[in-house]
Amino acid sequence: MKKNILISGGGIAGLTAAKFLSGQGHHITVADRAPSFTTAGFLISLKSFGVRIMEELGLKEELKAASSPSEFVSFLEKDDRIIQYLSYEKMNKNIENSILISRGGLHNVLYDNLKHQINILFNTTISDLRSEGDTTGVTFSDGSEMEADLVIVSEGLRSATRERYFTDSGMEDFNTLYMGGRLRTEHSGTVGSFKIYIDVDKMLSIYPIANDEIAIQCYLRHSGDPAPWNKPAELLQSSFSSYSLEVRELLSRFSQKGNMFIDKIGMVKVSDLVKGNIVLLGDAGYCPTALSGMGASLSIYGAKALSHFISKTPDDLRSACSNYNQWMQPVIHKFQSNARKNAASFIPENEQQLDQFVTSFKAASDIELKKIMTDPIVLSEDQFNFKIS
Ligand SMILES: Cc1cc2nc3c(=O)[nH]c(=O)nc-3n(C[C@H](O)[C@H](O)[C@H](O)COP(=O)(O)OP(=O)(O)OC[C@H]3O[C@@H](n4cnc5c(N)ncnc54)[C@H](O)[C@@H]3O)c2cc1C
Repeated sequence: MKKNILISGGGIAGLTAAKFLSGQGHHITVADRAPSFTTAGFLISLKSFGVRIMEELGLKEELKAASSPSEFVSFLEKDDRIIQYLSYEKMNKNIENSILISRGGLHNVLYDNLKHQINILFNTTISDLRSEGDTTGVTFSDGSEMEADLVIVSEGLRSATRERYFTDSGMEDFNTLYMGGRLRTEHSGTVGSFKIYIDVDKMLSIYPIANDEIAIQCYLRHSGDPAPWNKPAELLQSSFSSYSLEVRELLSRFSQKGNMFIDKIGMVKVSDLVKGNIVLLGDAGYCPTALSGMGASLSIYGAKALSHFISKTPDDLRSACSNYNQWMQPVIHKFQSNARKNAASFIPENEQQLDQFVTSFKAASDIELKKIMTDPIVLSEDQFNFKIS
């Protein structure tokens, strides 16, 4: 029997689930707090199985059309000495090449494909959820109501519904600020050739994504006082004062004229993704932090996993959700562990850790580099195909 499914949060996870589940014939309603969707946003790199699933959905060409070129990356010390110079093609040999795209660009590919097939309520959030036997009674922020067989909560990192109904959920704090965005500017860099500076308590990435545009991403370890958030220019200036004039000038222009997004890095911890007929998906349930570089792929994979288990037992959604939860736990564990390792390696806490990282990264053989760069972004074929080995 076809089910009434409410998806709260029509981001990457929510829309991917909507795509899979509407394909199974279910009635899908998506509620999003945003008044509309935009293509703007910070830059992400969609990798390995995320790209594969988008291809499966027939959306890879649209993704590529909205993407920016990514060919080479140099890891650098703050004085511009090269630690490693890598080609993305070589790194990603044997897996799907990653796709560099703004979060809004990826989201828009999904939205464009789905917008005439599903019911999307903008400016709408959940005010109340009530268990009514096999179904859930939902009241929305505008006072309207619906009865849902399943409520999928995909509201992102700071999900209000998770906080309200999953009272044992928590957030692991990395004491790290993220500042990133894009700047329209003439530049002398090569489009598709990126620089990543590794330094004590910080990492800075500079991505020339077009002849007149640079994307900038910066992670700064920062505990306690949130006041510097309000003064990004001063924070960038003081953090990178010993860098080359070129970098300092770029950061100065970025903080004056760029489109900047600032947030604190957080990792969502939930022991069970399911409560009755409510299920958490994407960052809302298992955000692995931006440091994993895999949040979008994991959101897309989670949507595929949930839809897969629903297709197996469409008349028993509680079993489907329970199977989804069990399936996802080891996968979540892998990517959240990788994010902690990335934080320790790519944002070293002191000079000694930095030296160790630089020395071992410089000396790494091709096989070791593959282990560092590619192993953390893949799933086994059995995991990808939901096969129990
Ligand atoms: C700086 C940064 C860099 C990143 N880089 C990468 C990368 O390189 N590779 C990668 O794979 N991932 C990356 N990610 C992670 C990736 O962006 C997320 O994992 C992904 O966007 C999660 O998708 P989602 O649908 O779960 O959440 P979101 O994309 O956050 O979408 C949530 C949706 O829910 C809506 N919403 C929020 N609250 C409510 C509410 N109460 N009610 C209704 N709707 C609500 C929002 O409007 C939004 O539409 C990065 C993240 C950040 C912050």
